[in-house]
Amino acid sequence: MSNAGITRIHRNDNGLFTLGLADGGEAVYDTVVLATGYGLKAPLETTEQDMDSLLLERPETRRHVVVMGNGLRAVDQVLQLRDGGFTGHITILSRRGFLPQPHTRMPADAVFPTQPMPSQLRNIVRFVREACAEAEENGWSWQAAMNGLRKRARTLWASLPPSEKRQFNRHLRAIYDSHRNRLPADVHARLEREFASGQTELKRGTTLKRTPDGLLVRWAGQSAESHFAADEVIDCRCLSPDLKDPVVADLLHAGLAATDELDLGLAVNPAGELVTPKGRPVGLFAIGPLGLGSLPDIDLVPEIVTQTYAAATLISARSLPQRQAS
Ligand SMILES: Cc1cc2nc3c(=O)[nH]c(=O)nc-3n(C[C@H](O)[C@H](O)[C@H](O)COP(=O)(O)OP(=O)(O)OC[C@H]3O[C@@H](n4cnc5c(N)ncnc54)[C@H](O)[C@@H]3O)c2cc1C
Repeated sequence: MSNAGITRIHRNDNGLFTLGLADGGEAVYDTVVLATGYGLKAPLETTEQDMDSLLLERPETRRHVVVMGNGLRAVDQVLQLRDGGFTGHITILSRRGFLPQPHTRMPADAVFPTQPMPSQLRNIVRFVREACAEAEENGWSWQAAMNGLRKRARTLWASLPPSEKRQFNRHLRAIYDSHRNRLPADVHARLEREFASGQTELKRGTTLKRTPDGLLVRWAGQSAESHFAADEVIDCRCLSPDLKDPVVADLLHAGLAATDELDLGLAVNPAGELVTPKGRPVGLFAIGPLGLGSLPDIDLVPEIVTQTYAAATLISARSLPQRQAS
């Protein structure tokens, strides 16, 4: 076992993999499972001078903290700041402005209409809206319908043509995420109280760059860039794999991995095996959010656990004959 970061993966002629480690070492394995979460992503562009100022510790002087993002991490960060005694102003800065919705105390076991889903995105949206309304009318909750939709999300995603997948990502992904990544009701209520107090606000805008004293932002609906002052900026944006990261780039270059249709991450099958136009390179897996472009919801723990079991079953089935032979 090594705690050193992995900097390179190379498949040798004998089918084994040599991993380059950040401490300069190397290690050889017959199976490699990438489970880097959202880990592989280039940081937002900053200059060296910016970095020096970002590293300055100045908690006692902070009056305004910006939390970038709109997911569970962003909400968690806001509440952690308050729990830590921060009494200043917090701005949650999000491109689309959709924060996680609450879980419900109503029944939320998965319910969903059994009839076939329409094939066009526009009609699918209407179908889902109606399913949510019907669930509420029948004493369930929209959360129950969303849980039902999740069970069909993979088949649905696979059936969409690339143009509709792109459209979904541009216009609907943020709304979908805010309804599937939900907050416990009491945490959501706490967040609502934050907004009601005026001490925390949600602003819509796109972050262009960090600066020593804040951010360069393009506010929603405006074309000009403006400076937004902050004593601290905390980046809680949902990350996606950086396909230019040396580890991923090497795999792509060697033909051991391919990107999904939208270039969101690596193409994988439900068991996490990397999928390329030439097939599945034996012994290479990417588990979890790295495969989000192929498998919707693969950033959620139950789905990651299921995928991990599937990968483990394959790995053990392959290694058993080798062990028996030796
Ligand atoms: C606040 C919050 C609340 C959440 N709540 C829920 C919830 O209620 N339900 C739910 O299902 N999901 C929830 N999630 C999402 C879920 O926790 C994550 O998607 C999941 O933990 C991802 O697991 P993972 O093992 O794939 O990656 P991670 O847990 O992110 O682990 C990745 C690991 O890879 C390592 N790594 C990265 N790059 C390298 C490298 N080059 N070399 C070596 N190591 C590397 C990292 O150091 C890290 O240890 C929540 C997330 C957050 C942030």
